Amino acid sequence: MVSARRPETRWVTRSIPFVLAGCSGFATYAVAKRICVDFFLNERHQNGPAITFLILYFVFFLLTLTTYLRLFLIIQTNPGVTPLGPKAIELKEKVKNRPRRERDLEAVGRYEARPDDDPDSPGLELFYSKDVFVCETDGRPRWCSTCCNWKVDRAHHCSEIERCVRKMDHYCPWVGGIVGETSFKFFVQFTFYTALTCIIVIVTGVICLQAKMREGDNLDGVIIALLAIAAMFGLFTVTMTATSVRSILVNLTTVDHVKKANRVVHQLALRVPLGTPPGPNYNVITYPLPKPPRRGRPGQSATPEPTSPRDQLASRTYAIVKTEMGENPWDLGFWRNWTSVMGNNPLDWFLPINPSPCTKYESPESFYEMGPVYKKLRKRYGLPELTDTPSGAGGEGAMKEKKPGGEQNEPGPEAERPDEQGTSKAQ
Ligand SMILES: [Zn+2]
Repeated sequence: MVSARRPETRWVTRSIPFVLAGCSGFATYAVAKRICVDFFLNERHQNGPAITFLILYFVFFLLTLTTYLRLFLIIQTNPGVTPLGPKAIELKEKVKNRPRRERDLEAVGRYEARPDDDPDSPGLELFYSKDVFVCETDGRPRWCSTCCNWKVDRAHHCSEIERCVRKMDHYCPWVGGIVGETSFKFFVQFTFYTALTCIIVIVTGVICLQAKMREGDNLDGVIIALLAIAAMFGLFTVTMTATSVRSILVNLTTVDHVKKANRVVHQLALRVPLGTPPGPNYNVITYPLPKPPRRGRPGQSATPEPTSPRDQLASRTYAIVKTEMGENPWDLGFWRNWTSVMGNNPLDWFLPINPSPCTKYESPESFYEMGPVYKKLRKRYGLPELTDTPSGAGGEGAMKEKKPGGEQNEPGPEAERPDEQGTSKAQ
């Protein structure tokens, strides 16, 4: 279980479920007892509105409750954090028995700012088993100085829980922690059902209040309080639902929006045939990195000097290219962006049962399914075709590739799969 670093955040996160329980308890009492039973049934003998409002309220309240529990549970058990690097684990072990405050100080003072220069750096192979990954200018993957590990595509470091999170969206104390790849679908469902429940409560409350006022009754404090609470949560969740749906449709996260996605340029390493020289507008890098480690310099390709036959088989060259400003390499179009998060079956869109398909995406091509920008980039930079693959990334058919001079049972992408699962999906 991953909890927030700051004590005040932990405190707020832990108290909010009680606040929510109090609010929903009060709303249920006000709607069911005060409005439906006391007012419509007993006072006015109107069975129709009483039963309609009761059913509507309880159906949507139960859906809200179920999605909340599903969301809360997944955030506690599988928040989608990426593994820590060996140095971060070592540090964590060292400070394990100290009070939390001291642990934080230690961590701040001893993080690993520089990427690991070891060509055999743990986790690095995962990247060059793919056809495309996000990289820095030197062609190496992004590095997280706190987790002391390489950052997989679209992962972002959350300073609140001090971990990198896959497709991190935001830290939400209302739902118990970090919202990211594994929880975003349930988060949207939760805000959607909460918004609907609030709308039903507001409609019920307003109808009751109007009827009471027509009959010259005094203003009912309980119903006024109910309307105030429902309006507050309603406004908040309607806005959240709208912005979340928009994020899903364009395949961006809140973090991407904050970073002004329309101005972001992505740097990607795209696999090219082994030994491809640098082009007029791109550099290349060949993995495994040479020993002693050497950064790819402008205009010069790092020539690999593999030490073992295994390294030779696993050698891969990548061109380092940039997207244009605002291009999103993972944009699959509205429909597929939507189904990659919400599921392929409309029932999945509404029920908090199955996880998002994107959480299960496994391919030797990329960490996430690539959109048309991937092929456009290859064309734009005039990258040589991969002769050893039937097709480039961007399709669903994951190909098995033949490495130059390789044999049938070479340690290709398939063979590296267990390692990949172990390093990228492990919690
Ligand atoms: Zn991190």
